Amino acid sequence: MPQAVAKSARGAARKPAPKILRAKQKAPPRIGIVSLGCPKALVDSERIITKLRAEGYELSADYAGADVVVVNTCGFLDSAKKESLDAIGEAMAENGRVVVTGCMGVEKDKIVAAHPGVLAVTGPHQYEQVVAAVHDAVPPLHDPFIDLVPPEGLRLTPRHYAYLKISEGCNHRCSFCIIPHLRGDLASRPAAHVMAEAERLVTAGVKELLVISQDTSAYGVDLKFAESRWKGRPVKARFLELCEALGSLGAWVRLHYVYPYPHVDDVLPLMAEGKILPYLDIPFQHASPRVLKAMRRPAHQEKTLDRLAAWRRTCPDLAVRSTFIVGFPGETEQDFELLLDWLKEARLARVGCFKYEPVEGAPANVLSGAVPEEVKEDRWHRFMAAQQEVSRELMAAKVGCSIAVIIDEADEEGAIGRSKWDAPETDGSVFLNGATGLKPGEIISARVAHADEYDLWAEPR
Ligand code: SF4
Repeated sequence: MPQAVAKSARGAARKPAPKILRAKQKAPPRIGIVSLGCPKALVDSERIITKLRAEGYELSADYAGADVVVVNTCGFLDSAKKESLDAIGEAMAENGRVVVTGCMGVEKDKIVAAHPGVLAVTGPHQYEQVVAAVHDAVPPLHDPFIDLVPPEGLRLTPRHYAYLKISEGCNHRCSFCIIPHLRGDLASRPAAHVMAEAERLVTAGVKELLVISQDTSAYGVDLKFAESRWKGRPVKARFLELCEALGSLGAWVRLHYVYPYPHVDDVLPLMAEGKILPYLDIPFQHASPRVLKAMRRPAHQEKTLDRLAAWRRTCPDLAVRSTFIVGFPGETEQDFELLLDWLKEARLARVGCFKYEPVEGAPANVLSGAVPEEVKEDRWHRFMAAQQEVSRELMAAKVGCSIAVIIDEADEEGAIGRSKWDAPETDGSVFLNGATGLKPGEIISARVAHADEYDLWAEPR
């Protein structure tokens, strides 16, 4: 599902398009980047800027200082497409030299019709084409060997956590989703490549690795679980083996976008042993078998409540985060009530909910039984209220406990961090009011003093 907008270079003062005089001035050319969409798109942006930085380009924090602006778009929902077109329009108005890439790049005609002056449009993962378009717009000034790029690459996340993308694309064909159309079938990275990147990140100071893909639990299926050599030993491109290897690096390892396949059971002991975080991000989307079938969801026949119970027997402090869609075509009141009952029983730690929105090109658009907007709205509120109850109880149970907290921000008034059960950006925070002398990335022990339905307040021990 779409995640929050990652980083934006928006907000710069309006100014005429700069003339490109860099070669004459012998100053390094400067790139602005606007990155929209999910963490996967953010990783794409990181790869693009890493490549350009290695070639001697500098990054500009605003439009005015950029010789060319790269806009990495999101095309997941119609609202995301609109946001992408608006971002391109803003970059055109503020700078005028714009290269477009990302998921919406597959709809080049639409982009060019709205913004005929864009320099180039490329699709998702077309790193070479993006870089070539930047070269055309403003040639690199330096040879790569004199440019100082850290071995872990350049990232848009804080220094202490990093997204680790283990595969691209998806073999499923959920009826509401066009990601396989945009990004193709599953293409996993060899385990040795993933591990080498993870190790470089940890060596550079990363304390938390956030494993992402479209379907993390399917990792390696396309490679037939092929072995590759990391640190002189073979590692299989398989979910369990990858989790074991990542768990040996000494960083927090958080698993996102997992489906409840039977083999997911195998990683629960690693969580119970503290090798990877007791956290699973599973986009269930619904609980009614009828709706799940219409959605064509992976693992939709799994008895998910039984699986959750079994996982909790192995790892009692497991936190499950999930997202849901209400108002999917054909969702009846009975389906929705089944979802509410399931939600109350599942006792998920963190939950997001979207009102169904048709996506251009998605098979679900032809389904009958559209749910009226006011019914979607009503169901969304009922869903959120039911989850708030659950969440309040789960959070209240943590009061008085000692927990590990990773510090995200710190100043003279205190610090803000996260527990093992909270991913950055999407989940809750732990507030350490008055706790000074802490640094981002530090992992401390704290005693929980207070809780609401989303956040905790704690004191360092
Ligand atoms: S699992 Fe379904 S929703 Fe997720 S990327 Fe694949 S097709 Fe889309």
